Formats: sequence, structure tokens, C-alpha cells
Amino acid sequence: MIPNGGTVAIKLHMGELGNIRYIRPIFARKIVDIVRNSGGKPFLLDTVASYPGERDTKQKYLNTAAKNGFAEATVDAPVVITDDEDKLEVIPIRNRISECQLRQAKVPSLLRDSSCILVLSHVKGHDLTGFGGALKNLGMGCVSTETKRAQHLVNMPQFNESACDGCGVCVDECPTGALKLVSERVKREVSKCISCGTCLFKCPSHGWVWPPGSKEKLQVYIAHAASAVLAGYKGRTGFVNFIQDVVPHCDCAAPSGEPVIQDIGIVFSFDPVAADKASLDLIDRAPIIPGSTSAMPPDLLGKIHRTDSSVQLTTAEKLGVGTLKYEMVPV
Ligand code: SF4
Ligand code: SF4
Repeated sequence: MIPNGGTVAIKLHMGELGNIRYIRPIFARKIVDIVRNSGGKPFLLDTVASYPGERDTKQKYLNTAAKNGFAEATVDAPVVITDDEDKLEVIPIRNRISECQLRQAKVPSLLRDSSCILVLSHVKGHDLTGFGGALKNLGMGCVSTETKRAQHLVNMPQFNESACDGCGVCVDECPTGALKLVSERVKREVSKCISCGTCLFKCPSHGWVWPPGSKEKLQVYIAHAASAVLAGYKGRTGFVNFIQDVVPHCDCAAPSGEPVIQDIGIVFSFDPVAADKASLDLIDRAPIIPGSTSAMPPDLLGKIHRTDSSVQLTTAEKLGVGTLKYEMVPV
């Protein structure tokens, strides 16, 4: 798969500052060694976050990555973070199903110009999609900020006026100044809202809620974006899912909670749908750590977040991204 001398982008989430559950740098280092020993030129890659935090600019992300253990000195390969100022490839999404309004995805050219892409994904829960694995890493992690926000439009928080006591916390916390208090009532300037969810997470009174169906809809969008990232790229991608530190929340969260099962291991596939399906099945067959969650299989992580996390998989399969059928070969 790796051509001699070809560049290999190793795409992974290097963790928000304060998160301790992301993929351990030593595993990235091992993959770097494997790529180099196979004749490839590896580099680690991620895109800036589309919401406020310690990864929302290149420099902040590089600083956070270094603090989390990802630097050239530790992983033995360049660490590259891209943003929308970098060259982007615009990939049209012509094959659309159901309610997806996403017409295109912008993907860093650095990624698409690589000879191969290895997608390293930490399998864990996710507040908006139930679980996050290879498809989430592709559809949200491999695209521009603009494309991330275009997807997140489907989960713009809804104001729940009956629960609001006018405390003003969300107004102070909104990173874009989209909110203001008028006569003790919250008003939002929708054009300024980037659907970051800060108001929802910070409100002490459930004054903001996710729109009904938005968790499933976001998964549909992610599957479409994933199909765009891989368009014309088949046969040059590999997916490594780390089923360890399976916590309820994603690597963007700090803290992200305690594991709900014991570590299982690593799944590799050339098919992101099969990799995610196998990962979810392994999680559902594992004993739950007593007291860690009241949710039960099937779809343990989806149940924690009150969604059906298989939507991203079934949509991706319909779009030809991969297949839900797999054969597990222990090594
Ligand atoms: S933080 Fe919640 S309760 Fe306070 S003003 Fe905003 S919506 Fe209302
Ligand atoms: S209104 Fe809420 S979701 Fe929109 S930008 Fe402000 S904090 Fe983020």
C-alpha cells in the first residue's frame, strides 16, 4: 500500500488540553516506525477545531499537541496542523441521500496530496454522535473549519425559554457574541452562531437543548463528508481504531469521563465502516465496568448519549464508503 518514498499522512486527534484519554503518543510513534520501515515518509496531521479551545488555531494546537506528547522529538515525524488559510481541495458531494444538504467538502490538499492516509481513531463516546471512530475522524476531523461548521448547523442549540432564568451565563460565554440579554430575555443573532454548543454546556438550567433529531442528522452529514474525503482515494487509506480508554465523551472534552469497559485492543481495516462496526460490536460484547454507566448494549455508547450511533455507519455504507460486513482476524 505504501509506495517507496511516498508521503503518508497519519491523521489523528491529539487531544484537547486537559484531556488524558486520547491516543497515546507512543502508538503514533510505533506507526511512524512502521511507515518509515515500509519506505514511506510519515507525518502527523490534524485540522484546527471549529469551536473555541486550546486547538482553535495552528499555534495553539501545536502547543497543546506538544504538551500532550506529540512533537517531532517524541513521535519522530513532523507534526502538522492545517487551517482554512492552507490550500484546500473542494470536493463536490453529488451522491446524497435523505436530508443531507451538504453540497461540498473542503479538505486540506496536504492530506489529499499524500500517497496514503492512515487514520488513527480513538473509539469513545461522543455527545453529538453517540460514538466517534474512523468515520467521525474522516468526516469531521479531515475537513476545513468551514465544512465543519456547515455540518454543525444541524445541531445549532435551540432556546428553551421556559427553563431560562435570565442569569446571563450563556451571553458571557458565547465566543462569537451571538447572544445578548434584552429585558432579561436571551436573544441570539443567528448569523453569528457557529453551533459550538458552549451556551448549552454552560447553562446551569437547561436553557438550551439540542434540536430533536439533530444527533442522527449530524451523523448523516458526517457520513457524506467522509465519502467526500475518500472520493477517488480508495486503496490508499488504512484505518486503525484504538479501543482503549473507552470513555463517554470525546477527545475534545476535558475531562472526558471514566472508561465504561476494559481496554480491548486495536482494530485495523482498509474499510472505515467495517473498522467502526467491528469496534462497536467488540464494545457491546465486553463486560461493563460496574458503576461506570447505567446504559446497556446494544449500542452502549449511543444509549449513553440518547442516539442511535449506527446511523453514521448505515449512511456511509449506502454511500459506498464501506461495508458493515467484516471478518475478524485476530493477530
Ligand atoms: S445560561 Fe441558561 S438560564 Fe442563564 S441566561 Fe442563558 S439560557 Fe438562560
Ligand atoms: S449561541 Fe451558543 S452555539 Fe451559537 S456561537 Fe454562541 S455559544 Fe456557540
